[in-house]
Amino acid sequence: MNSLLLNTDGVQIPQLGFGVWQVPDDEAERAVSFAIEAGYTSIDTARLYFNEEGVGRAIARADVPREKLFITTKLWNDDHDRAEAAFEASLSRLGLDQLDLYLIHWPVPAQDKYVQAWKSMERLYKDGRVRAIGVSNFTIAHLERLMNETEIVPSINQIELHPRFPQPELRAFHEANGILTEAWSPLGQGRGLLDDPALATLGRKHGKSPAQVVLRWHVQLGNVVIPKSVTPSRIRENIDVFDFTLDPEDMAAIGALNNGTRLGPDPATFNWMG
Ligand code: NDP
Repeated sequence: MNSLLLNTDGVQIPQLGFGVWQVPDDEAERAVSFAIEAGYTSIDTARLYFNEEGVGRAIARADVPREKLFITTKLWNDDHDRAEAAFEASLSRLGLDQLDLYLIHWPVPAQDKYVQAWKSMERLYKDGRVRAIGVSNFTIAHLERLMNETEIVPSINQIELHPRFPQPELRAFHEANGILTEAWSPLGQGRGLLDDPALATLGRKHGKSPAQVVLRWHVQLGNVVIPKSVTPSRIRENIDVFDFTLDPEDMAAIGALNNGTRLGPDPATFNWMG
């Protein structure tokens, strides 16, 4: 498994992890346990997924020692003015005494509290409660504001990113500022994208599935990627992407699938509090 260096004192994140959005709490324990057995060491959850306890049970019963796992959770939108308390509540649901990565889930521009939230995250980082801090769904404008008004540059921005919505400008901004790009809905949520004939053709060429071709595209772009599945065969399939290489023309063929289609909301206008 490749790891990528975060901009925080030698902390590394596995390039491919396991996402658990829309996995109910009882199922999360089973799915995460299976994923850890299959070789995943990075798990991406959030307060809003209501499965931190299930994830925590899987971590507790794993054969892999805690320090070999990389656990991410996120600050929900209505907790921006009480980030430290929200963090401790998440940590307690996860059954952990330190977190690897804490993200602001959405900027929620209408509420305008993300700078305040970030300052609390900085305190959590300085106090050693979390090994790295970052954001999710931040636009260039939101990132610039944080960089102008606070001390620590986010280590990562977790954003919607898949072949139909590859976000080249935001990726370039991240790269220029030492911020890692983490792709959510990396498989385009499975439906639609994975049925594209171009991916089937590339899959045949490399002896891989369309999902594996897409995940390899992410890896070669330098993205951190967190596919979700509750299906054991797919959980295994999705991590088996480190034994082949896409040629430049394969990368270009996947790049040509960009049609600017978002699956999720636009962070510039998403102000939902849950
Ligand atoms: P993904 O792009 O990971 O797609 C998941 C879907 O694809 C599921 O329906 C899954 O089905 C299916 N699937 C998985 N593997 C395969 C495969 N090999 N072949 C065919 N179908 C497959 O979507 P998500 O939206 O779940 O994104 C991944 C993670 O990103 C989330 O779980 C979450 O952790 C994070 N995320 C973060 C957001 C944010 O705002 N920060 C927003 C959205 C997601 P099945 O499970 O039935 O196997």
